[in-house]
Amino acid sequence: MWTVWLDDAPVRRLASRTAQVIWPNAWLAPGFRVRQVRSHRSTTLPNERWVRVRNLLAGIDERDLALAMGRDHTSPYLALPQPRQQYLGREVVGEVVEVGLDVSLVGLGDRVVLRNPVSSTCDALSLQPPCRNCASGNDALCEHRALPWMGVGAGWSSEMIVHEGQLFQPPEDLLAEQAVLLEPAARAIRAMLRCPLEPGSRVLLIGGGIFAQLIVAAARELMTGVTFMVATDLPHEIAALRALEGATIVPRRPRELLRRISELTSATLFERGTRPYLMGGCELVFDCEGSASSLEVALMATHAGGSVVLVLGYPQSQRLETTRLWYDEVTVVGIGNPGPEHVPEHMERSIGTHASNYMLAARLLHKGQLRTDTIITHRLPAAQLRRALAIASHPARHHVTRVVLVHE
Ligand SMILES: [Zn+2]
Repeated sequence: MWTVWLDDAPVRRLASRTAQVIWPNAWLAPGFRVRQVRSHRSTTLPNERWVRVRNLLAGIDERDLALAMGRDHTSPYLALPQPRQQYLGREVVGEVVEVGLDVSLVGLGDRVVLRNPVSSTCDALSLQPPCRNCASGNDALCEHRALPWMGVGAGWSSEMIVHEGQLFQPPEDLLAEQAVLLEPAARAIRAMLRCPLEPGSRVLLIGGGIFAQLIVAAARELMTGVTFMVATDLPHEIAALRALEGATIVPRRPRELLRRISELTSATLFERGTRPYLMGGCELVFDCEGSASSLEVALMATHAGGSVVLVLGYPQSQRLETTRLWYDEVTVVGIGNPGPEHVPEHMERSIGTHASNYMLAARLLHKGQLRTDTIITHRLPAAQLRRALAIASHPARHHVTRVVLVHE
């Protein structure tokens, strides 16, 4: 059994950061924070509602990658108690191989995916009554999630021990390659439901990677009459988006992006020195890149009274230009996890009134409406984790949309 974790000992964190100053890829070296350890000893289940899952496929998602690279060192998130071993791999599909006596939600042999990050919830801690967020079904925001988690492993490990309430059971005939994308697909759908698209809306997506592709594909099925523009300069993303048909590609470089948005939306672009200002723009902007530059340009491209949805964020601190927030009353909404969301009336016909975002994503994947062939660009044996991380950390050079680890 392989177990993969991020070693959060202060000495390793410091050594890794120092080494990265002269050697940017130092975080990949075996002696630093990403630990991949082979163990012959099987850990026992913490109690009778926990299960053991043998992993089949796991994605290398942007947030796990950012943690592995140590990009979180300036984040207020570090004030929270950090486990010494932080398990990585939130996108995973596996098979249940051991169940506690009181497990009722899954059974031996069931195929399952991880439904939320590996952190504590009221259910996993047996707390009654549950906190407000758990009671509303949004247990990824559990008020007790900073308490120690009792499980072991996540997607990058060959096995994981998790509470049964942290799992989702996809439809039986969903392929493993589709099931491993349920987490990002559910997150993309939640982003669309937090700020519902209206017919006639002009929508900009910054970054043409996995979330942009999933949002464009899902939106095509859920509603009509929305104009999508995607800002990317990467040839493999442009090719994938063109194959999806339904989005206009615009340049990613900020000044050129604003000029193109001004043409496409009949907005007026004012430019004085280095400062552009777009009067008009897109009603809704999805930041699918999560960088300081992408959030800045997202705010500039949004119509007064519109919204920016931060689909992809990292534990990091960054400066935010707030003028658009008060002068143009632009709203910024962050999406951390898939979570539940109400389905607005004009989308009900396509996806029903209310269901978990995982169920909605599974339905679209199952009907073939979310294609996986252009999204999973690389598959590597899980034993070659460091090579897979090296590829995933240079998406432009290696034409990466998603790298998937295959467990033997
Ligand atoms: Zn809770």
